[in-house]
Order: sequence, then structure tokens, then C-alpha cells
Amino acid sequence: MARSSIRKSPTLDIDGLLDKFESFLQKKTLKLTSQRRQILEKILEMDKTHFTADDLVDQFRDQRPRVSKATVYRSLSVMVEAGIVEEHQFGDSHKVYELSEGRQHHDHLICTACSKIFEFFNADMEKLQDKVAASHGFHATHHSQKIFGICADCWAKGNR
Ligand SMILES: [Zn+2]
Ligand SMILES: [Zn+2]
Repeated sequence: MARSSIRKSPTLDIDGLLDKFESFLQKKTLKLTSQRRQILEKILEMDKTHFTADDLVDQFRDQRPRVSKATVYRSLSVMVEAGIVEEHQFGDSHKVYELSEGRQHHDHLICTACSKIFEFFNADMEKLQDKVAASHGFHATHHSQKIFGICADCWAKGNR
């Protein structure tokens, strides 16, 4: 069954993440600016496993000096490139991010009524996907399984 949320691994260390981010930035001749560092720290602090770029912008609402929306958006895409953050397209223009470092592979159930996201891992399904790929002589590198529908709460409330 779906687990509503797999929490970030408690052993996830911010220093390791910052090191990884910094060495990626160096390769791009970019710097780990204090803003980029703060953005990564906010992602770790956030109690949302899956977040939108605007959720992240909200984290800086009361902060002075302000971290601009453009900076947050740009930093997010650099983090995706660096492999620290994963980007998911969950429906039309509904882009969701999550920390990929230190997390186990999982797939998603997406409620089209309330946008809630549930994570699941199913070993049989994983095996079946490998089998399908192999039967096409296809060498799968990764996958993202998305199941859209109505969550139990919305269903009970009649929200379709
Ligand atoms: Zn729902
Ligand atoms: Zn997830």
C-alpha cells in the first residue's frame, strides 16, 4: 500500500550535500553563493517532501535581504542538473521537486482533485517494468511511475 510520505533520511548530512553542490558548481565555474546555500538549507528544513518552486519562494517571505523568485527558480534548475533535486511533471504545468539525495527510489500517486502526492514502492511492479524493458531489448536506466486519480479523502467527500 502507499505510504503517504517517506521522510528524509535522518542521516542526510547537509555538509555532504553542500560539498556535492559546490563541486558541481565549480565545474560550471559557478560559486556556492550564500543565496544558493540558503536555498539548499531551506529545502532540507521544509516539512514538505514534494514542493513547488513557489513553495520554496514562500520560505523566503519574511527574510531580509530578500532572495528573489528568479534566484530561487534558477538555483532549483541548477540543483536538478547537479542531481541533488529531482523534478517531476505531475500534470499540466504542475512541476514538483523533491530532494533525491539520500532517498530511496519510489513512485507516485497523484490526486487530481487536491493535488496531494503519495509515494509508493512495489517490488513486483519494479520487476515487471524491468521485464517489459528487457522484452524490448531495452536497457532501462530509470523510470518515473505516475498514477493519477482521486485520493481516499477526496473520494469520501465526493470531490472528483
Ligand atoms: Zn485528494
Ligand atoms: Zn517522491
